[in-house]
Amino acid sequence: MSGLTHQANGVAERLRAADARGLNATLHWSEENLAAEAARVEALAGAGATLPLAGMPIALKDNIVTTDAPTTCASRILEGYRSPYDATVVRRLREAGALIAAKANLDEFAMGSSTEHSAFGRVLHPTHPDRVPGGSSGGSAALVAAGVVPAALGSETGGSVRQPASFCGIVGVKPTYGRVSRYGLVAFGSSLDCVSVFGRTVDDASRVLAVIAGQDEQDATTVDAPPMTLEAAPGSLRGIRIGLPAEYFPADLDAGVRAGVDRAAAALRALGAELVPVSLPHSAYAVPTYYVLAPAEAASNLARYDGVRYGVRRIGPAGDLPALYRATRGEGFGAEVRRRILVGTYVLSAGYYDAYYNKAQQVRNLIAADFTKAFAPGGVHFLLTPTTPTPAFRAGEKTADPVSMYLADIFVSAVSLAGLPAMSLPAGLSEGLPVGVQIIAPAFEESRMLALASALEAALGAAGEVR
Ligand code: GLN
Repeated sequence: MSGLTHQANGVAERLRAADARGLNATLHWSEENLAAEAARVEALAGAGATLPLAGMPIALKDNIVTTDAPTTCASRILEGYRSPYDATVVRRLREAGALIAAKANLDEFAMGSSTEHSAFGRVLHPTHPDRVPGGSSGGSAALVAAGVVPAALGSETGGSVRQPASFCGIVGVKPTYGRVSRYGLVAFGSSLDCVSVFGRTVDDASRVLAVIAGQDEQDATTVDAPPMTLEAAPGSLRGIRIGLPAEYFPADLDAGVRAGVDRAAAALRALGAELVPVSLPHSAYAVPTYYVLAPAEAASNLARYDGVRYGVRRIGPAGDLPALYRATRGEGFGAEVRRRILVGTYVLSAGYYDAYYNKAQQVRNLIAADFTKAFAPGGVHFLLTPTTPTPAFRAGEKTADPVSMYLADIFVSAVSLAGLPAMSLPAGLSEGLPVGVQIIAPAFEESRMLALASALEAALGAAGEVR
């Protein structure tokens, strides 16, 4: 048996075990696909291709399209849909020798913070099954945290990789908006959406991000930035200034989360970095701003699911087209998606556009300007914050109250609105539950952010604090 076939068999075994224990992290995978992937990479290697991810099994959030499996977005409305093309990120992963292992469960259309809004059932937290893995990329996070795959792709519109990474105790990296192609990522909020990466370690996540990053003629918002480089962890952080934004440390912050950030801050200081207080005053408005703009963009993006072009169709009385739309969309979308479409349509409607949508755009600019000011010459090089206000919460705890669910995003939304790169890194446990810290960097500074994270990962690991 070849090495790659052996590797593919191992992944299949772990996927089977994860399914058997009811993790519910995958929506599709098959032994045939894995065998085909192994044969494909074998052939690439045989042809002498350079394969930076040779044989690395990677799971994909099921809002990233692939030709060899259905893409569901965890929604009934896409039942039976199969993409005629691979997303650019998938094409790049395949060319780099990765084995596409599985399509992972998510909140329907990536709307949620717990993966409880999937039409196919919730994903269990890998070590605490009564809790949520976070969301919306909860299936991808759970597969990495459970050791099924070393890395996975998720997507971020407003924190959907950093937040589950924090809850599951793994690394989650959101690149700068424009760094990674969105071609083949099913659109949610087009001005915010970013394909993002989970890894067991900073190194795994960095290697995957370096492969998927880069300009793509299929996505006009991708930028011709200097390529990402894989930098070694610096031995010393002397001369590096890291800001602690006061607004991200409220008095009622969970004590375990605060302890995690304190550990990270102490480790960074021990490496020579200077930690300085800063202020990002408009971040306080990030959650309400995000929950106006993201639904507005979602309402227009999701207009395409009309029962005519994609997925399911529910037909009303003959000749009644609006009845077809109503029946299809009423049955095909879950409650949270319908809520977003209603909110989004409302804030875009005549008479409310200025009061909500336009106002939110203005606040978005103020939120972004705070970061620009913090990172200006003479200011800080990075920011350090908690990723989430609490460790993983219990399943069912927030489903009845959408606003409490939205507040799980309180420390991750501002970065998304500002389009900046940021990541979550494990910083220890609080009563047995993982807590993460967030590192935020200036636009297109992913390489330096990841190098800093490697240094911090090593320091925290060496202190016996993590994993
Ligand atoms: N929790 C946020 C939402 O529900 C973020 C989702 C995301 O980043 N995809 O919209």
